[in-house]
Amino acid sequence: MGKKKLEETVKLPQHKHCPECAKAILDQDYCSEKCKDLFEKRLFKKKLLIYLQVGAAAFLILLMLFIYSGQLPF
Ligand SMILES: [Zn+2]
Repeated sequence: MGKKKLEETVKLPQHKHCPECAKAILDQDYCSEKCKDLFEKRLFKKKLLIYLQVGAAAFLILLMLFIYSGQLPF
């Protein structure tokens, strides 16, 4: 009975991609400071938009509660 040798799988070294321009990078999170800056700015705008939407939704719900309970404060 011969022992079967597993074929050595050639793997690419662990790498990531720049979230802004998708360039392959190794140790950093971004390929350049410029990409980091751009990405973080975009992320900030996205978060701000979500907060605004959540805030608007919460405001509308409160407004409806006030209207239905007949206690409109303005
Ligand atoms: Zn990049």
